Amino acid sequence: MAKETPFVPVKIKCPFCDIESTQRYIKSRMYQPDVVEEDTHVATYKWENPEFAQIRPNFYHIWHCPTCHFCDEKEVFRGEDKSKGKLELIKEKLLIHSRMPNSMIARMGETIDFSKDAYSVDSVILAHLLAIHEQELLSSSMRQHPKLARFYLRLAWLYREKATLALPEENIPTGFDSHSAFLESFKTEWPGIPVSEDQALEISLACYQDVLNNASGTDPKYEINIMNLLIAILRRSKRNAEALRMVRAVFSAATKARQIARAALQKGVNVAQHQNLLNFAAGVIDKTTELAEQLGEIVFNEELPAAKEAVMNMGPVDAKTVVDKLRELKFSDITCRRLGKMFEKQAARK
Ligand SMILES: [Zn+2]
Repeated sequence: MAKETPFVPVKIKCPFCDIESTQRYIKSRMYQPDVVEEDTHVATYKWENPEFAQIRPNFYHIWHCPTCHFCDEKEVFRGEDKSKGKLELIKEKLLIHSRMPNSMIARMGETIDFSKDAYSVDSVILAHLLAIHEQELLSSSMRQHPKLARFYLRLAWLYREKATLALPEENIPTGFDSHSAFLESFKTEWPGIPVSEDQALEISLACYQDVLNNASGTDPKYEINIMNLLIAILRRSKRNAEALRMVRAVFSAATKARQIARAALQKGVNVAQHQNLLNFAAGVIDKTTELAEQLGEIVFNEELPAAKEAVMNMGPVDAKTVVDKLRELKFSDITCRRLGKMFEKQAARK
């Protein structure tokens, strides 16, 4: 009997250069996400067969054409996604660049080694960088923004995994001490290239913010899910005050969604759909209320020393002025309110 394997090899023609290569995907029924972090990163997987415990399915998300270095999701290679028309716009450019030996695309692409089942994290990082770079060859209005945001987030996860799982660097390109140094060398061609988890998270954050701005007023569930992801990324980036503001925004969005769902249910419009929205909104409101309290404490403690100092420098003022001035100085709402109260109590004691 053949040895069990989770890999499915696929011979497929590249949608750009038409040359056939072998790609891989992983049988999804063989594993389950086990520990999932707030930003939806699957930290650990549970495999049916423990022999496969070392395999990280997210490494197989991006396919790479070894000839022209086109990198994208398998759906695009299979012609199953809806972006093909847009990608045609960069085809010529990519084919020309991939044939120039010193171009960034050629140098990155040639370093990717997906020839064996086990991929190295650095090859996977390069494939993600190329997929991002190729998407960004499109003018901003033609890009698939949700996909780009996701690619940056996935890239951040890879840097995280490389550090937390202490994944070894293999096949370091000649002339470099490490893969990190190799990536740094692309800064002339790509000044904003993200070479760390923090940098990738920051760009992902900006991309998701764009996605959210463009999604405004479409589907409340979709918007709330993006906002929750933004909260997770902000917290991971230690931007707690911004995360707290976003928590408040989620709270109002969920409250609004609940009102819409209730009104529709009263009229008997799309009952199943609105019941579902009502349950979703109720869950979000519960979770958000708890999170707002937790984050509020964190933010208050972070801001307290600077806020106290600002109050001391205000000279003789009343409690209302304290609150107004702290607001002007962009302290969080919770800090302004609490310091205002502290100030009032102190004044009363005098
Ligand atoms: Zn190709």
